[in-house]
Amino acid sequence: MATAAAIDIGGTKIAAAIVARDGLVGDVRVVATDAVNGATEVLSRSIGLLRSVIAESDVPKPSAIGIASGGWFEQSTGRVVVATDLLPRWSGLDLRSEFERAIGLPAVVLNDVHSMGIAEGRLGAGSGRHVCLSVAVGTGIGGAITVDGRLFEGAHGMAGALGHIPFRTEGARCSCGRRGCVEAYASGPAIAASFAKCARRRDSHVVLLDVVNAMISSEEPMRECARRATAAAGAALGRVLGGVANTIDPDVIVLGGGAALALGDVFTEAVRSAAADCVIQPISASVVTAHLGTAAGVVGAGLVALDALATREPTKIVS
Ligand SMILES: [Zn+2]
Repeated sequence: MATAAAIDIGGTKIAAAIVARDGLVGDVRVVATDAVNGATEVLSRSIGLLRSVIAESDVPKPSAIGIASGGWFEQSTGRVVVATDLLPRWSGLDLRSEFERAIGLPAVVLNDVHSMGIAEGRLGAGSGRHVCLSVAVGTGIGGAITVDGRLFEGAHGMAGALGHIPFRTEGARCSCGRRGCVEAYASGPAIAASFAKCARRRDSHVVLLDVVNAMISSEEPMRECARRATAAAGAALGRVLGGVANTIDPDVIVLGGGAALALGDVFTEAVRSAAADCVIQPISASVVTAHLGTAAGVVGAGLVALDALATREPTKIVS
């Protein structure tokens, strides 16, 4: 059984595990990203985590590395071409070479939401379906289109960046530097900010977990603020997803990412209802929750590393 060591570097958490063709082998290990400490620190924490996962794994030892990360990559070099503010100073980083040098195995890199989409499309909620649109709502919002489990990459490898679909003219500032993208209205931090405003609390002290906790609070006004912020964000995202569904005609829309999963039914139902209002029949806006949960990014990275091993000569490791 061939295995890959896989890592998913997000704006909030870094997760790593060993992955085989049919999914995870063993547990996922998670550490905080602490992105504010800068790219070098995030990179060394990531390499350290992956090293310990490999060291603790039983035979067979992994023969490749799959790296999923926020941002987009030049496929020929594995260098980060574009990264948003969620991973400060990530742009320009030679991510693939850094891992190959440190660990001594050939590596592949891909966008973290593309990775989630591949995992859900092959082994999760999109398994057995033809066209699958996956959406991850976390610190940011990303998307991936897979056809029979294979990623539709677009002309520049960036297809699926639906968090940056314009939602309001002008509007709130987004992590990409523009204004009015749907990410600025429906991501975890945007929902936390909207809840803070309703609950008259200082924005900077409120995180998504506060919204999740307020949802089951004994104080009715807090519950109401949490539900309102969550439903408004879900409705914004749902409208955008309905428009995307009209464009690509998916069999299924898979909703995942840490924030979406933590907010649960209130969010999912708002997305589902708004998307259904926007699609043209007979296109389906069947919105389902991701089956692989927060492990999807790691699993997808491992699957792509195993694809690379099976289809081409191992990458020459930079020394
Ligand atoms: Zn944007």
